[in-house]
Amino acid sequence: MRLAFFGAEGKVGRALVPVLERNGHTVHGIEIGDPVEVAGLDACVDFTTPAAAPSNVRAALEEGVSCVVGTTGWDPQPLHELAHERGLKLFVAPNFSIGAVLMMRFAAEAAAYLPRAEIIELHNETKKDAPSGTAAATAKLIGGDPAIHSVRLPGLVAHQEVIFGAEGQLLTIRHDTTARESFADGVLLALSKLPDLPTGLTVGLDALL
Ligand code: NAP
Repeated sequence: MRLAFFGAEGKVGRALVPVLERNGHTVHGIEIGDPVEVAGLDACVDFTTPAAAPSNVRAALEEGVSCVVGTTGWDPQPLHELAHERGLKLFVAPNFSIGAVLMMRFAAEAAAYLPRAEIIELHNETKKDAPSGTAAATAKLIGGDPAIHSVRLPGLVAHQEVIFGAEGQLLTIRHDTTARESFADGVLLALSKLPDLPTGLTVGLDALL
């Protein structure tokens, strides 16, 4: 596919662009201040900031281009209508790592039997939003409004524990992302499934697995 990548020079962008290219995609990187020249491309990918993603995605949709978005900390719902009325796809996932999606699934399964839970999410100190999109999505999935604890330190990439507590027992479900290339499989999957998605907004890699 011919792709534009908003945030190609960011930490995720630098890890993902070479993987996308190795998988046969042509990638045009767009940074802050660059003109959003995307008309005619097959899709846009956005890994930027919560402040930048809404206008990047709006600009892409207005140019008739579907989007795959990993940026967290913003609400894509207001763009559903625009994507839908133009017959375009807007796929947004708080976590593109397949292991993390399985961690969320297993946590949802455990919550049916162990209703008391808390979430600890740990990310690199450069992450701008808290709680993480993955932690917020996990909390929604398991229900019961669990507390979320956010840790921001150097040395971390992206990690999450869901701890279930009951009389006399603890269950911990943990996922560690040790390199940002872990997000590539999910982005490649989303790009390959874009033609099959309904028009408008689809949220979460779970919908594609
Ligand atoms: P980052 O290193 O700060 O990279 C963001 C990049 O976006 C930077 O190069 C930044 O440029 C650029 N940028 C900012 N505004 C822009 C604009 N208007 N147009 C184009 N580019 C713009 O952050 P990151 O670690 O790569 O993470 C990016 C986002 O992805 C965050 O929201 C993070 O939470 C999210 N994320 C999601 C997943 C997932 O699986 N869904 C995984 C990891 C991260 P400057 O440096 O010049 O400001």
